[in-house]
Amino acid sequence: MKIAIYPGSFDPITNGHVDIIKRGSKIFDKLYIALSNNVKKQSLFTLEERIELTKGAVANFANVEVIVSENKLTVDFAKSVGASIILRGLRAATDFEFEFTMAMINTKLNSEIETVFLTADNEYMYLSSSTTKEIAKFSGDVSNFVPKDVADALKAKFDD
Ligand code: ADP
Repeated sequence: MKIAIYPGSFDPITNGHVDIIKRGSKIFDKLYIALSNNVKKQSLFTLEERIELTKGAVANFANVEVIVSENKLTVDFAKSVGASIILRGLRAATDFEFEFTMAMINTKLNSEIETVFLTADNEYMYLSSSTTKEIAKFSGDVSNFVPKDVADALKAKFDD
């Protein structure tokens, strides 16, 4: 049984994330989306809101489950759920250095856990949670970038 985790802050989940999850769900028997707070970024949505939105976006994938991984190293979290793979998405060269370093560090921390990268689909290459938030903040249309519930939640957040 090939079990993988897809860790991230998902603040909020975008169609780019969903694409990686869809493709990952075909490769692995079980895929856990491991939600955490990114220590380097102040999140817009609370953890509870991100759990709700992420669950809604992946409800159609039978072997995908959303879980929270707080205050734990990613490799330790992976091990705790029986996963031997960390799945990450790679957009452009700008993602590469950070992702490469993380993968190297994680291998040093636990050599039994492999990081597997899926390259972003052409259509989502430019897409990030941060860009989506900026567009929504200024009332731009994000309906092509995120699932409907997320677009509604962004609107509600910035209408507050
Ligand atoms: P983090 O805060 O840990 O970087 P994110 O939620 O921003 O978490 O991203 C989680 C993973 O999804 C990362 O590997 C990131 O590169 C990848 N990712 C983000 N946006 C896209 C996209 N549009 N297409 C493919 N992968 C993406």
